[in-house]
Amino acid sequence: MAERIDGKAVAAEVIERVKRAADALREKTGTKTGLAVVIVGDDPASQVYVASKGRMAKECGFHSVEHRLPEDASGDELIDLVGRLNDDPSIHGILVQLPLPAHMDAGRVIQTISPEKDVDGFHFINVGKLGTGERETAFVPCTPAGSMLLIERTIGKELSGKTAVVVGRSNIVGKPMANLLLAANATVTIAHSRTPDLAAVCRTADVLVAAVGRPEMVRGDWIKPGAVVIDVGINRIDAPERGEGKTRLVGDVAYGEAEKVASAITPVPGGVGPMTIAMLMANAVTSAYRAAGEQPPS
Ligand code: NDP
Repeated sequence: MAERIDGKAVAAEVIERVKRAADALREKTGTKTGLAVVIVGDDPASQVYVASKGRMAKECGFHSVEHRLPEDASGDELIDLVGRLNDDPSIHGILVQLPLPAHMDAGRVIQTISPEKDVDGFHFINVGKLGTGERETAFVPCTPAGSMLLIERTIGKELSGKTAVVVGRSNIVGKPMANLLLAANATVTIAHSRTPDLAAVCRTADVLVAAVGRPEMVRGDWIKPGAVVIDVGINRIDAPERGEGKTRLVGDVAYGEAEKVASAITPVPGGVGPMTIAMLMANAVTSAYRAAGEQPPS
């Protein structure tokens, strides 16, 4: 049976390190790490994410602020707010919770965030730095960064000679994930909805990352024996076995089948999910170190 990669435990370790780093910076320079989360409208899932980010920021000892704009706020109002946060020296990380209401141009808003405070790593400057290997001053998107840390903890930092397949090519998960694997010297394939014979492509992977958003699409017989499987997907499906109207979370990988073939696999929930928020906190404290002219801890 595959090792179950415990994302919760690794995330808890990251959070402990972030707390210590934030304390050390405050003691040395008086700088308190500041994280601003901006939410527009009342999408219930976004409310939950924003609340947990705020809670975690407080737990890390950060100066944590939340800005709420009504659903009908204009794009310019949001951009003005981001501009004020860019200019506020007590804020080191700015996170605009997505999705934004349809009348707002999310791309334009993200490009308004100062790259030095773009702790989500979505600004073109940070995307470009990751793509060109300028990691020292970049912010890496949190979900791929967290997935990479789980891979490192499982098989080490050096992936030369290993084949990696990333299923999914989104800007927030698939593409940055592929860049991180490439930087670790893996031979990387990115697969997507137009990839013929996806199962055969997946079977070449020593490291398989599924970031698709299709419940349990990756079956056990798509997995190379001994592969490390990172399941980024979070899908809510009906669970009539738990009672009428009940649901449960599953990943993009059929866990029960995959654990019989893989050497290690992340569960859903409890795998990549907890890592995302932990890496966000890590990016925020890194930003505060940079702003204070200090070397961030690794
Ligand atoms: P997107 O919808 O932006 O991208 C999905 C990707 O999967 C696309 O590249 C798409 O291909 C590809 N795809 C879709 N269907 C298929 C198929 N049948 N065969 C092969 N490829 C397919 O999703 P995200 O990248 O934002 O998220 C992916 C998953 O990860 C979701 O379940 C999401 O909930 C989860 N997620 C989890 C996070 C966490 O914290 N754990 C954070 C962020 C996301 P194409 O480009 O050709 O359309």
